Amino acid sequence: MDVMHLSSECYPVAKVGGLGDVVGALPKYLCEAGLNASVVIPYYDRKFVQENSFELIFKSTGIIGSKTFEYHILKERNRTLGFDLYLIRIPGLLDRKEIYCYPDEIEQFISFQLSFLDWISKSEKKPDIIHCHDHHTGLIPFLVSNTISFKNLASIPTVCTIHNGQYQGWFGWDKISYLPAFDLSNAGLLDWGNCINSLAASVKCCWKFTTVSPSYLKELSVNSNGLEKLFQMEEAKGSGIINGIDTMVWNPETDPMIFKTYTHESVNAGKKENKKQLCKEFGLSSTKPLVVFIGRLVGEKGADLLAELIASCLDSFKGRLNFLILGSGDPKTEKELKDLKVKYKKQYGVYIGYDEMLSHRIYASADFLIMPSRVEPCGLNQLYAMRYGTIPIVHKTGGLKDTVIDLAVPGGYGFSFDELNIISIKTVIGRAYEVYEDPERMTAIRKKLMSLDFSWDKSAEEYINLYKSLSND
Ligand code: ADP
Repeated sequence: MDVMHLSSECYPVAKVGGLGDVVGALPKYLCEAGLNASVVIPYYDRKFVQENSFELIFKSTGIIGSKTFEYHILKERNRTLGFDLYLIRIPGLLDRKEIYCYPDEIEQFISFQLSFLDWISKSEKKPDIIHCHDHHTGLIPFLVSNTISFKNLASIPTVCTIHNGQYQGWFGWDKISYLPAFDLSNAGLLDWGNCINSLAASVKCCWKFTTVSPSYLKELSVNSNGLEKLFQMEEAKGSGIINGIDTMVWNPETDPMIFKTYTHESVNAGKKENKKQLCKEFGLSSTKPLVVFIGRLVGEKGADLLAELIASCLDSFKGRLNFLILGSGDPKTEKELKDLKVKYKKQYGVYIGYDEMLSHRIYASADFLIMPSRVEPCGLNQLYAMRYGTIPIVHKTGGLKDTVIDLAVPGGYGFSFDELNIISIKTVIGRAYEVYEDPERMTAIRKKLMSLDFSWDKSAEEYINLYKSLSND
């Protein structure tokens, strides 16, 4: 079965968050299970693309509004990622360094989707399933089922996965001419709230949609940035499949990015050495418990609470613990977190920016990882943390609820809290501190965390069953 994944991100080519991780891993596991999964993303002028070899396999032109553009399909020659990777390059539009935030982003992603469809509509071999990820590829299900140009693709089942329902790819009806001709009586399929909403169109027109955790599927019906009614109406088409992690990339036994590799057996010594080196870099004491946060510094992640939380904890715990932050995002939050360093020089470290290697080092070194997320579709950070024997402290929402069981519950292995406020988070950090003071308990929890299975195998199986239920094969 041929499954083509379309996405804006794919690790290690281009990653901003969990979407990149999933698209870089799931197809590999699907291929291992015997499917022919491939990935199509825009061309980015980034390290992976510069350092690997690609061949031009197709070239043609497309039209967006009144502009004609040339597009190139490039295929990675060596299957380096364990699946076929295709890049769509459009000179001047899809050949840049950054993934998001260009003023002509709408034109970029529409051209990407149009080029993909034009290419496969002209190819002899068609995929059995088209799997779209998030709003950047959300127009595909509408385009294959409604436009004259892509009529020969209408029988291909489309699946869409929602990694983040907060961002929806909105644009005005004044840009309708960007799309190829279709029966205007179907224009309502594109609309939500009087504008074109790519994610809404995707949910309406796809054959099936999935969310990246079962709890997130339920939450979208009550909290999805305006799409609540849509998710209530389309509920029957949806299913929640929890993300897995790529255990080949995220493996403390072999990870080349960390200071010292370690196993389940050597977890204490391994984490100790990693923590020592990391704390040295940030001027922190390695004998105190290290609480970390990694992620986008945005409201969804509760990052606006961090500065006050850290200050309050450091004052109350009188310097008995350390905090370390890695992230970037809202300028106000970035500034607050940087400013905090002035007062708490020896107990607090911060790196504002994106750094893949540092993230691995932090997962390996930390004692606790905190996730005060307001919304968390799945959350991968807590899964990576657990893989490295780091205890998660999470707000009970979305995928965090599905993956972290509090130590107060039999069989539990982490900390969770219901109320998202400073007092409640501080209380749970207090509980974590007590556990840290008990080395035997700490060791037992670390070992338990490292033995948990969050690999892709089971979730990939669920995707395969979904594809089989749709495919004409
Ligand atoms: P989201 O996709 O909502 O940002 P996830 O938890 O699903 O959140 O995935 C976040 C991914 O991005 C993880 O792999 C995490 O380690 C990584 N990440 C987030 N921020 C940074 C950063 N500043 N530097 C390095 N990696 C980061």
